[in-house]
Amino acid sequence: MATINDNYLKLKAGYLFPEIARRVAVFAEANPDAPIIKLGIGDVTEPLPEACRTAMVEAVKDMGDRDQFKGYGPEQGYLWLREKVAQHDFQSRGCDIDASEIFISDGSKCDCGNILDIFGSNNSIAVTDPVYPVYVDTNVMAGHTGPVNEKGEYGGLTYLPINAENAFTASIPNEKVDLIYLCFPNNPTGAVASKEHLQAWVNYARAHGSIILFDAAYEAFITDPAIPHSIYEIEGARDCAIEFRSFSKNAGFTGTRCALTVVPKTLMGKAADGSDVALHGLWNRRQSTKFNGVSYIVQRGAEAVYSPEGQAQTKALIDFYMENARIIREQLTAAGIAVYGGVNAPYVWVKTPNDLTSWDFFDKLLHSCHVVGTPGSGFGAAGEGYFRISAFNSRENVNEAMRRVTEKFRA
Ligand SMILES: *Cc1c(COP(=O)(O)O)cnc(C)c1O
Repeated sequence: MATINDNYLKLKAGYLFPEIARRVAVFAEANPDAPIIKLGIGDVTEPLPEACRTAMVEAVKDMGDRDQFKGYGPEQGYLWLREKVAQHDFQSRGCDIDASEIFISDGSKCDCGNILDIFGSNNSIAVTDPVYPVYVDTNVMAGHTGPVNEKGEYGGLTYLPINAENAFTASIPNEKVDLIYLCFPNNPTGAVASKEHLQAWVNYARAHGSIILFDAAYEAFITDPAIPHSIYEIEGARDCAIEFRSFSKNAGFTGTRCALTVVPKTLMGKAADGSDVALHGLWNRRQSTKFNGVSYIVQRGAEAVYSPEGQAQTKALIDFYMENARIIREQLTAAGIAVYGGVNAPYVWVKTPNDLTSWDFFDKLLHSCHVVGTPGSGFGAAGEGYFRISAFNSRENVNEAMRRVTEKFRA
């Protein structure tokens, strides 16, 4: 019989979101009239910007016209989109990134996982705790870890705790790690990193020959002008960092699918014979072999994000979610609950009141307020005692959920 990749058997059973769904289903079955509001999963709720829809409709028309029809496109994405990304997202912020260093893809989640294809199997790997589970699980699948312990930590990974004491930014490790995953603005904590903090990571990476895998999926939610949007705003980052970006959260493309990864041409890794090899060429080879590009229609939709109308409409979308975040922060604070994040990110990270565990607070909120959030412990052992509330929802739902929570918790 064919054998399987046994590394999959190391993955923790009962993944976070299925367990949330199970508890909600049990409660809903017993309380069919309870009006449940879900502030849990990190998916957007508002429709696609009109500029993007109009561009996609035009692109559909192209596909019906023999002269304009597009078959396979470049695996790296169309140059007209890559040039707009390079100019608007990077060069306008002083980042030395060329269109040829940008790879358009169908998602940052995929890219964060697929990037491991071009790295060796003996790298030491650091993640923050709590963390976006994709970084950890893809390393488990690739056989880069040992088994999981009862706290949910995998052997062989370096966990860097982030908590209120260190403002949710990890301390630079003393020992050398080869690959470091950083996500700013952070999911799940909503924290951001200052220029100085990122400079310290870049300095560390360059001193140790490490590579930073920088996930900037939420950069558009930054409101503080002093906070960097890209790792390439940091001196030296071209030589030590790959950046992931997505149209999912800024333009509501979670169901439409478009993202991008930046691999600078100056970024090197070591081959077994000790020589330096450019990662750009390896990623290009990987994508050309295993990926056939994002649909023309979707890339035209993404391009429209950079038009004046698209810029205004995506800004309005982000402002809408950030107003939700403000309401959540203020209402929870008024109810005497400590909150973090939610200022430069669409997530509010809540310290559970009365030292409740994350899951006890989840049950309490579900049963007494009919509000669903995400237990912090699901993002890692150091997330215990915290809880994530997402600002991705209608204003009506956010107001109603906060009304119920403040009524319940206000002393
Ligand atoms: C939502 C999200 C992404 C984007 O994923 P896509 O596959 O592009 O939709 C990337 N990283 C983090 C941390 C996210 O929360």
